[in-house]
Amino acid sequence: MAIRTTLYGYQVKNGKTVIHIEESEVVKKVFSLYVEGKTLNSIATMLTEEKVAYFQDEVKWNKNTINRMIENEKYMGNEIYPMIISSSMFNQAKAMKEKKSCKQETHTPEVELVREIAVCGKCGSRFKRVNTWGAREKWMCSKGCKCSVYIDDAILEDAVRSNLNRVIENPDLLNVVADSQYMPTIDVTKEENELIRLLEQPKLDFSVVAKCILQGAKVRFDCCDYDNGELTEELKDEISSVDKIDYKIMKEYIKQIIIQPAGRIITVFINNAKITNGEAENASQFRKKSNEN
Ligand SMILES: [Zn+2]
Repeated sequence: MAIRTTLYGYQVKNGKTVIHIEESEVVKKVFSLYVEGKTLNSIATMLTEEKVAYFQDEVKWNKNTINRMIENEKYMGNEIYPMIISSSMFNQAKAMKEKKSCKQETHTPEVELVREIAVCGKCGSRFKRVNTWGAREKWMCSKGCKCSVYIDDAILEDAVRSNLNRVIENPDLLNVVADSQYMPTIDVTKEENELIRLLEQPKLDFSVVAKCILQGAKVRFDCCDYDNGELTEELKDEISSVDKIDYKIMKEYIKQIIIQPAGRIITVFINNAKITNGEAENASQFRKKSNEN
């Protein structure tokens, strides 16, 4: 696939960067629409619907393209790029963006907590919330396993609350099944493969092999849901007397929030009990919707 190497709005003629008339009109339009209060998404949709070419015959615009455009200072002109956007227009767009992101940054402490303890349901790495400007939030795996889920804050928080509520109503849900099936994580598999590779070497370095075996044992231990009976009993006792769920309660009893690719949310309590939310359907609907865009 060919990729665009010249900044949108410009073309190179005789080794010089000059304004591309049609494209520069699009750039101006994008800035003025954004300053009027249109969202990145709606501008992208509009350009796509109007079949405005981004590059060659490519007409697919997305909010990232628009976002990069309104953030690009080159449009104000410099020694290489002629000016398309006045600095006052550029600054208006910048101010609009700050205004929008301020609005977005008002999270409840509960959502903040979820941000701290969310992990990817596929590989166990931290799940990170990508800032968007719409109502839905995109969550992405921090290791490149390409998992991403759209869940809005309210649904995520509701799922965690409802899991907690279920446990408060029925503390026995916290009983961790002692002989739950052993499921090696990706880390375990990786360590095992590394050990096999080392053992197949013609010359064995015992200190390296020993280190690998120890590391393997550690990751296997980490991935086991061992039954912590005492902690479970204590937790059941305490949690049954909770009368109001707030940030403090969540922080005290919840160890991890696992977000699965399909949008299912699993709450892991401090004794490793896992409670799955009944609202997974909700989240995946959001996901489907976003895929259609
Ligand atoms: Zn992952």
